[in-house]
Amino acid sequence: MLKIGVIGCGAIGREHIRRLTNLVPGAVVVACSDYWRKSAEETAGQYGIQNVYDTGEELIAAKDVEAIVITSSDSSHAAYVLESLKHGKYVFCEKPLAQKSSDCEKIIAEEIKHGRRLIQVGFMRRYDRGYAEMKRIIESGELGAPLMIHACHRNVSQTDGFQTEMGITNVAIHELDICRWLLGDEYKNAQVLKVRQSARSTKGYDNPQIVLLETSGGCRIDVEVQVADAYGYDIQCQVVCEQGTIDLPDPSAVVKRANAARSFPILTDWADRFIEAYDIELTEWMQAVGKEKLTGPSSWDGYAACVAADTLNRSRGTNRFLEIEMIGKPDLYQAR
Ligand code: NAP
Repeated sequence: MLKIGVIGCGAIGREHIRRLTNLVPGAVVVACSDYWRKSAEETAGQYGIQNVYDTGEELIAAKDVEAIVITSSDSSHAAYVLESLKHGKYVFCEKPLAQKSSDCEKIIAEEIKHGRRLIQVGFMRRYDRGYAEMKRIIESGELGAPLMIHACHRNVSQTDGFQTEMGITNVAIHELDICRWLLGDEYKNAQVLKVRQSARSTKGYDNPQIVLLETSGGCRIDVEVQVADAYGYDIQCQVVCEQGTIDLPDPSAVVKRANAARSFPILTDWADRFIEAYDIELTEWMQAVGKEKLTGPSSWDGYAACVAADTLNRSRGTNRFLEIEMIGKPDLYQAR
C-alpha cells in the first residue's frame, strides 16, 4: 500500500481522500493537515486517518508519508511542492502548480535535480472520456488539421475573496491546459478582454471575460470565462478542423418530455461534472507512482499553463496581444 498524506481538507481535499480511501487500489491515506485543524480532525475521523499534523511541512517530513497530495488553496501550492521535492517524495498537486510562472521555474529546476519526474498536476480533464476522444480524432487526422477552438467555462459561484486575476489563474487554467493538450502545440500570444459585465455580478471582479490565444501553429482559441452567476456549471469545447468539427459531449442526463417541451438538467457542481475523470486521474497516478514512472500532466504542463495565465493577466486593459515567452523545454519533459 502507498502511504499518502493530504494537505488541505476542504472541498476537493475531502473528495480526493474519499476516492483514495474507497476507490483507488493500493492507496491508504495515513495523514492529513489543514490551516483549519478542526476540518483536518473531522476528515481524519470520517476516513480513519491515523495522523493529523498542524502544518503541511510536518506532514511532508513525516517518515511514514511516502507521497503527498496537495489540495490546499492555490497560493500555498508552490511552497509545498518545493518542500516535498526537498524530501524526494512523489506529489500530486491540484491545479494550479503555482500562481506565478517564476515559481513553476523553481519547481522545474528542483525536479530536474532528481533526474526523474516526481510531480503530477491535477489537470483532470485530460482523463475525461469526451476530451480523450476529441484528441484521438484530432490526432487521427480524419478531419484534417485543427484550425480553431471555441470554448466556454460557466460557473455558478465563487468563494469570498475571489479576484479578477483568479478568473484566469484558478478557473480558465483548465482551458489553458486542455487546449494546448488537444492541439499538441504551445501558445504564441494571448490577450484577455473585458466584455459587457453581467448585472448579476456584484462582487467587484470582472465577469465575464474573454480569453484569446494563438498557438505556434497558427490555431486561434477563444474562451468565454464566466466565473460565477451562470445558469449552471457548463463546460463547452468545439474544435473546428478543415473537414469538420468536434464537440465535447454534455454529461449524460435523463431527457424529460412534458408540456410540449424536451428538457434535461444541467449540473451546477464541478465535483459532479468530472467525477469519473478524477477517479481515473488518481488511479493512474497511483499506478504510475508504483512503477516509479509518472506519465500524467507534468511540472512543464503546469508551467506552460501558468505562463499563459501570467501573460493574459498582464494583457488586461492593454487591448493587445502579448507574446508568450517560455524557457526551453528541459529533456526531462520531452515525450519519450
Ligand atoms: P477549499 O474548500 O477552500 O479548501 C482548501 C482548504 O485548504 C481550506 O480548508 C483551507 O483552509 C486550507 N488551506 C489553505 N491554505 C492552506 C495551507 N497553506 N496549508 C494547509 N491548508 C491550507 O478549496 P477547494 O475547492 O477544496 O480547492 C483546493 C484546491 O484545489 C485549490 O487550489 C483549487 O484550485 C483546486 N481545485 C481543483 C479542482 C479541479 O477541478 N481540478 C476543483 C476544485 C478545486 P482555510 O479555509 O482556513 O484557508
